[in-house]
Amino acid sequence: MRKLKFATRAIHVGEEPNVGEGGTGDVVVPIHVATTFARKEVESPTGGYEYSRTENPTRHALEKRLATLENAKFGLAFASGMAAEATLILSVLQKGDHVIAFDDLYGGTRRLFSNVLSNFGLEFTYVDARKAEYVKKAILKNTRMIWLETPTNPLMKLCDIRRISELGKSQDLVTVVDNTFMSPYFQNPLDLGADIVVHSTTKYLGGHSDVVGGALMLSNEELYNKLKFNQNAIGAVPSPFDCFLVLRGIKTLTVRMERHNYNAQKVAEYLESHPRVRKVHYPGLRSHPQHELAKKQMSGFGGMLSFELDSGLEGVKVFLRKLEIFALAESLGGVESLVEHPALMTHASIPKREREKIGITNSLIRVSMGIEDVEDLIEDLSQALNKA
Ligand SMILES: *Cc1c(COP(=O)(O)O)cnc(C)c1O
Repeated sequence: MRKLKFATRAIHVGEEPNVGEGGTGDVVVPIHVATTFARKEVESPTGGYEYSRTENPTRHALEKRLATLENAKFGLAFASGMAAEATLILSVLQKGDHVIAFDDLYGGTRRLFSNVLSNFGLEFTYVDARKAEYVKKAILKNTRMIWLETPTNPLMKLCDIRRISELGKSQDLVTVVDNTFMSPYFQNPLDLGADIVVHSTTKYLGGHSDVVGGALMLSNEELYNKLKFNQNAIGAVPSPFDCFLVLRGIKTLTVRMERHNYNAQKVAEYLESHPRVRKVHYPGLRSHPQHELAKKQMSGFGGMLSFELDSGLEGVKVFLRKLEIFALAESLGGVESLVEHPALMTHASIPKREREKIGITNSLIRVSMGIEDVEDLIEDLSQALNKA
C-alpha cells in the first residue's frame, strides 16, 4: 500500500485497534498505569513489557505516532522538551566536545547549555545561523554537533536546514533541529538532511496547554539504540496519562495547524498595516527578509509572530493590560491565543545589552495565535492598540 498521508497517520499510527484473539478492540489506546508487568516464564516478559520506566504500552503507542509525524524510523517520548534535550546531549557527546548553536535559541535550551552542560566539559559557540558560512567558520577540531532552531523565538529568524545539514554531514557532525515552532505539519527537518529532530510536545503536538512533554525523532538505528538505553538509564520519561494527552492532541494537529496559520497570516497583515505598529516578524509576510527560504523549506508559516509597538514600555504595558481575549502568558502552541513580553518574561534572563543587540527591545511583543475566530482576535487587538 502507498504511504498514508499526514492527517491519516496522525490519527491512526500506533493506535490500531486490536480486534484479534483476546483483543478488546479499543479505538483509543488505554492508559496503562501499571508500573510492572507479570510474566509466566522467567525469561519471557509478556508482550515485551517489564517495568514502566523501560517500556510502557501507552508510551509505545505515542512513540510510534511521533516517529511517523517526522517521517522517522524511531520516536522517543520524554517528560519535557528539556528532558529530551538533556538526554540527547548526554547520549551523543563526551567531555571535550564542541557544539555550534544558533545564537537565537529557546531560552531554556541556552540555559541548559550555558549553566548546566558547560560544567561537564562541553563547549558551545553561538553563531548567527541565518548565514550558513558563519556555521562553517565556527567548526573546530572537536566540534561534534550543530544545534538549530528555525524559525527562532521570538524574532522568527530562519536558517537553511538543508545547507547546514549538508555541511554537517561533510564534517561528520550530528545536526539537530528543534522543530517545536513549526510542528511536523509544516516542516520536516529529517527530510531536509538533519539527523535528529527535537520537539517540546508541550506546544503544538499536545496543543491544549494541559500537558508538558518532549520528543526525539530520528532514523539512525545506532544512535537510536544509545538514546533508548539512556531514556531508561536516565529515566526522564512521561507518565502514561501524559502520553495519552499528547496522543489525543496529535489527532487534531492537522486542522489546528491550518487554523493557527490562517489566523496568524491575517493578524500579521492587520498589524503590518496598523499605524501604531513599527514592525511585524512573520515568515508569511513578503516583508520578512527570509520569506523565500520559508516558502522553500516549510509548507506553511505557522502560528507564531512578534511585533514592535510604536511606543515605550509604558504604552506596551497598557496594550497588554487592555487585551481581553489574548491571555498574557508564557508558552505557546495551544488553542487559545497568548501574548507575552519577551524582554520582561521569557527572555528576561538574557542581559539587557545583549538582548537589545539581537532585537529583543521593550517594544517587542510575541503572539501565539490560537484558533478562535480571527475577527474577534483582530477586534481585541484593535481596541487595545487604540488605548495604548
Ligand atoms: C518550550 C520549548 C522547549 C522546552 O520544552 P519544555 O516542554 O518546556 O521542556 C524547547 N524548545 C522550544 C522551541 C520550546 O518552545
